[in-house]
Amino acid sequence: MSEKQTLGFQAEVKQLLQLMIHSLYSNKEIFLRELVSNASDAADKLRFEAIANPALYEDDAELKIRITFDADARTLTIADNGIGMSRDEVIEHIGTIAKSGTRAFFDSLTGDARKDANLIGQFGVGFYSAFIVADRVTLTTRRAGLPADAGVRWESAGEGEYSIEAVDKAGRGTEIVLHLREDEGELLNDWRLRSILRKYSDHIAIPIEMLSTPEAADGDEPAPAAVFEPVNQASALWARPKSEISDEQYREFYKHVAHDFEDPLAWTHARVEGRQEYTELLYIPSRAPFDLWDRERKHGVKLYVRRVFIMDDADKLMPLYLRFVKGVIDSADLSLNVSREILQGSKDIDAIRAGCVKKVLGVLEDLASNEADKYATFWQAFGNVLKEGIGEDFANKDRIARLLRFASTSNDSNVQNVSLADYVARMKDGQDKIYYITADSFAAAKNSPHLEVFRKKGVEVLLLSDRVDEWVTGHLTEFDGKALVSVAKGELDLGQLEDEAEKEAQKQVEETLQPLIERVGKALTEQVREVRVTHRLTESPACLVASEHGMSTHLERLLKSAGQ
Ligand code: ADP
Ligand code: MG
Repeated sequence: MSEKQTLGFQAEVKQLLQLMIHSLYSNKEIFLRELVSNASDAADKLRFEAIANPALYEDDAELKIRITFDADARTLTIADNGIGMSRDEVIEHIGTIAKSGTRAFFDSLTGDARKDANLIGQFGVGFYSAFIVADRVTLTTRRAGLPADAGVRWESAGEGEYSIEAVDKAGRGTEIVLHLREDEGELLNDWRLRSILRKYSDHIAIPIEMLSTPEAADGDEPAPAAVFEPVNQASALWARPKSEISDEQYREFYKHVAHDFEDPLAWTHARVEGRQEYTELLYIPSRAPFDLWDRERKHGVKLYVRRVFIMDDADKLMPLYLRFVKGVIDSADLSLNVSREILQGSKDIDAIRAGCVKKVLGVLEDLASNEADKYATFWQAFGNVLKEGIGEDFANKDRIARLLRFASTSNDSNVQNVSLADYVARMKDGQDKIYYITADSFAAAKNSPHLEVFRKKGVEVLLLSDRVDEWVTGHLTEFDGKALVSVAKGELDLGQLEDEAEKEAQKQVEETLQPLIERVGKALTEQVREVRVTHRLTESPACLVASEHGMSTHLERLLKSAGQ
């Protein structure tokens, strides 16, 4: 058991390491932020497990992170007394990429270092970023609660293999030693390390300590020994007053909670008092992660109770249609023993969630009206998720409807930037409905024969071609007192848009064509319910129409392709 074993990385890890070293080199100091972020997560996990099992503290309840370096050995060490890892956990978390979407990630790489650096940021690299500056990394860890001889040492040069062996480790937690590359000597510098820590990790809630030598007192007394002192403020960022937090700090905190390398698009931070007392700090990311559509994904909103971490990905705190929101909710009232099961039907949680949803919608409304570029970025990344809210969140349906953006015949571009309010403002005199068409693709929507009469009359039609749009239009039947109507369904009633003379002429045509209609109807009895004269086409001779209350042809196709 104590024998040293050499194991191969999962193929993707090796590929990822190479890619990372090359693409993140220009921003290499972020490795320290990543390792400190992991140490802080490990402290959170320990504190949480210790609620039920205080013995895990092993008489060392002051959680902290220590950074030291040895200029002669050219090593930099990051040590924590957090939860630590067992042997199996080391193999699982450090030797594998347990992330879904890994294949998709590699397939999307371009070979262009700049672009790939962005992609890799989206994917999240974490621990492996150590190899940007180190050519050998030694991780020694012991899980809290296990005996001293259950320590594990993992070592790798980041080239496809790692070794793992059992060691004794007196203190619990994880110590990571970076053997710095030849040209990374500048990191062996007290001032340099402090400035990196202050820049990227000031928001970390536990102390990050470095050795400092107190000023020698006057006279010939020997210089006092160096002592560990915190470099950061060591208080939970969300609990600090807003006026004392810089945008930079908000951004760095986001990268830590969201495990993202990119800056967030926007955030909301508030202390809420009333029936429930809590603090929320919630972020809108600027890019969709690879696994947005993966139901197993984690890293959503973290729940804390009076600064104690309780759980990651507390899905009861955010409705599904806001699953892209990241951040922290810290409750002053919940019990520390709260579990997922308890959250399930809790009225307190419902109240917190309702409050947070309102805050998030408020942020989005603010972007939509004041920062159009950012809102466009948001919509592109998450519009399809937000749309689900139309059917999911009855209480906020109207607010969500105002946030929707569509492509439209107003500019025939596939960019979704037309709001329902824009549409209503442009409605023709006498128009009392909002017209839309759903189709499999933007091109199919745009070229649909159903649009001919609308184009002729200059009436705008929304062009819907996302999968979720059928669901949206099924739940959104009215906006601002105006019915939403599919131009492909039922008898088309253009209401006041048709003038009397036109109606008279149409009646005449219908009478003349009656015999033809009867013949066609007979020929197609098996295939269609009804054949009728239409005035909605100006160029095409005929088209298929879904019945008013039946499924739309698009939905019918979707169900068929799903095997229904
Ligand atoms: P992420 O933090 O996004 O999960 P990382 O690559 O940074 O990804 O870390 C991978 C995993 O390794 C972590 O989720 C955690 O389980 C484990 N880990 C890393 N560092 C530590 C540490 N200092 N203490 C305990 N576990 C750690
Ligand atoms: Mg990490």
